Amino acid sequence: MGIEAALPVDGFMTTQLQRVINWARRSSLWPMPFATACCGIELMAVASSRYDLARFGMERMSFSPRQADLLIVAGRIAVKMMPVLQRIYEQMTEPKWVISMGACASTGGVFDTYAVVQGCDQYLPVDVYIPGCPPRPEQLLEGIMAIQRHIDQSGIPPMPPGGRRVPLGLVIEPTHRVRPQPVGITVGGA
Ligand code: SF4
Repeated sequence: MGIEAALPVDGFMTTQLQRVINWARRSSLWPMPFATACCGIELMAVASSRYDLARFGMERMSFSPRQADLLIVAGRIAVKMMPVLQRIYEQMTEPKWVISMGACASTGGVFDTYAVVQGCDQYLPVDVYIPGCPPRPEQLLEGIMAIQRHIDQSGIPPMPPGGRRVPLGLVIEPTHRVRPQPVGITVGGA
C-alpha cells in the first residue's frame, strides 16, 4: 500500500488524526446495492475481474443497511418501492453517501408514468449522479472515486443540528471512448 516506502528508516511516522480517519473512511466504503433493473448488471460488472472494485477497498457489497455507508440506486424506482428505499437509507450508518446510477434512478428515464419515481433525489440526498442508459462500469467507478476524493480532501461535512447533510450533487461525465476492435480477431474460427 505504499506505507512501507513512506516509513522512515527508524520505523515511525507522524500525521494528523483527521487525515488518518479520512484515509480509513475513504478506503473502506461499503456499498449497499439497490438494483432494480438493467443498470444492476453494470453494477455487478464493477465487481468482476475486468473492473475489479476490490482495488478501491470496497468489494464487500453489503446487503444489510446497518453495515453499509454507500447506497447505490441502480434502476427505476416504483412509487410503491420508495418507502422501502427510504427506510434502507435511514438504517444505514453515518456518515453515508448516495449514488444515483443511470437515467432511470436520476430522472425516471423513459418511464414517464405515474407509477415510477421521476428521480430518487426527490426523496434521498444524492451525492453523485451517473448519467447513461446504462452507464458503463467505468463511470460508476469514477463516481465512487469522486466520493473518495471528497472524503480524502474535505472530510465529512459537519452535520447541522437537527438537520441533514447537504448532498454533494456531483455529476459524472462519460469517460469511456469507443475504440476500434483489434484487427485479426475472428469469431467462431471462420
Ligand atoms: S437507465 Fe437504462 S439501463 Fe438503467 S435501468 Fe433504466 S432502462 Fe435500464
